[in-house]
Amino acid sequence: MAVDTLAYHRICAELTARNVTLVAVSKTKPVDDIRALYELGQRDFGENYVQELVQKQAELPADIRWHFIGHLQSNKIKYIAPFAHLIHGIDSQKLLKAVDKEGRKLNRKIGCLLQVHIAQEETKFGLNRDEVDLLTHAYFNQSAYEGVVVKGLMGMASFTDDTVQIAREMSTLKSVFDEIRSSYPSHAHQFDTLSMGMSGDYPIAIEKGSTLVRIGSLLFGTRS
Ligand SMILES: *Cc1c(COP(=O)(O)O)cnc(C)c1O
Repeated sequence: MAVDTLAYHRICAELTARNVTLVAVSKTKPVDDIRALYELGQRDFGENYVQELVQKQAELPADIRWHFIGHLQSNKIKYIAPFAHLIHGIDSQKLLKAVDKEGRKLNRKIGCLLQVHIAQEETKFGLNRDEVDLLTHAYFNQSAYEGVVVKGLMGMASFTDDTVQIAREMSTLKSVFDEIRSSYPSHAHQFDTLSMGMSGDYPIAIEKGSTLVRIGSLLFGTRS
């Protein structure tokens, strides 16, 4: 078993002091590793692949809050819609509408985060600033979205050792988050989640105002 319980307790102490939620990213890791953290009290877990998430969810305790943090294809939403706590990677209005449709079928409001492109790399998914504004405008001004609740933003900084650049990208995301909250003050209480920070950059993320970090390798060891 590869779970680093010392790191878990250290990170929990750090996050609790700042009121930041920990999502333990368990992708590719066995259910026994998830159970080990669950026994220590961890309830939020993150997965990237639909099939893997569905299998693990069926085997593990029902009170786990499952975060889908990967790239979601429309045709696979239905498999996770019945239980997903938060879908982090909404990167188009089309995808939000498709999640909304599944949520309405199930009479659920599925929690979603809009993924914003902040990194320099071309490869990372996400909305640009204009697209974020269009999508939040559409969402907050239409009562049509009854199957989803947009809880905030998610982003990934560049994969680099340049901490100044990482800090700059995270500050950008934080200001987009703050601007949306102040543009829609009556929705700010529900638009309260800023998902940024991973094993390599979570201390910077906390400094920059993250409310939720997604940490995998520091807890479960590196992935092959
Ligand atoms: C894998 C993954 C993480 C966790 O990465 P670590 O570096 O192992 O902490 C966080 N967020 C997303 C979107 C991921 O895909």
